[in-house]
Amino acid sequence: MPPDLRPRLPSPLTPVRDPRFDGHGVRLLLKRDDLIHPDLPGNKWRKLSPNLRAAAGRPLLTFGGAYSNHLRATAAAGRLLGIPTVGVVRGDELAARPLNPSLARCAADGMRLHFVSRTDYRRRHDPAYLAALLPAVSLPDLPEPYVVPEGGSNALAVEGCTRLGRELHGVTDVAAVACGTGGTLAGLAAGLAPGQRALGVPVLKGGFLEQEVVRLQEAAFGGRRGEWSLADGFHCGGYARTTPELLAFADDFEARHGLPVERLYVAKTLHALTVLTAQGAFPPGTRLTAVVTGRP
Ligand SMILES: *Cc1c(COP(=O)(O)O)cnc(C)c1O
Repeated sequence: MPPDLRPRLPSPLTPVRDPRFDGHGVRLLLKRDDLIHPDLPGNKWRKLSPNLRAAAGRPLLTFGGAYSNHLRATAAAGRLLGIPTVGVVRGDELAARPLNPSLARCAADGMRLHFVSRTDYRRRHDPAYLAALLPAVSLPDLPEPYVVPEGGSNALAVEGCTRLGRELHGVTDVAAVACGTGGTLAGLAAGLAPGQRALGVPVLKGGFLEQEVVRLQEAAFGGRRGEWSLADGFHCGGYARTTPELLAFADDFEARHGLPVERLYVAKTLHALTVLTAQGAFPPGTRLTAVVTGRP
């Protein structure tokens, strides 16, 4: 790992005193994955680093929406490693507009942005589509790009996230994490010890995630691993959606604990844990870890 990509691992684990948990005999801990790396925070470092090793200096090609944290992390990795990156972005209407701050950051880090229609984007896992796409985005005189799927979740990424589970051996009973593609949950659950369990909090609406986590565990390990489940009903209407209640909860959590609370994933996870604890979902004595997967 070149010096600029060196991570802070294991990430810090810090207890939090909060009456909403203490009152139910639940001990809340924060796993500060947001502190792993300034440009590749949280699960993005854990997922990308094995892929960067596999890419062995080839250009990186990956996929994301206009606000994708994964695209930003990939662009930053490309800058730090001095390798070219191409981002295939959902929505060809964006090509005609000024870049939003997230895509502008990608471009400033040297990422080539290739906008495609939503119809084309839906074919991103189709090998025939990829084969047709590569010549269109390939960089002259450079080797064929190493393709990282949307959200960075593939078998290598899932394996990279098993370390998150191993870092929690002996110190927690339940480890909760926000789920976009589910790759982090898949690896976390596999890395935990027997008797520990993982809880995923989906931030998207749709109910496809269970299958997706199983598929990723099959790809990485050949079958389902670890004990895990999903806490549905905390997505606030879908990806990037928030409610006034969620935002008030996040403001309050920041004020109480001095933790910068990322709103689209981390706030939903902490909120879910608060509600589930109030409902008595965790028996007294439970050590409950919330993985802080990113920063605002
Ligand atoms: C990308 C991301 C996630 C989702 O991770 P998956 O492995 O795709 O489920 C969670 N939290 C934050 C802050 C992220 O940026």
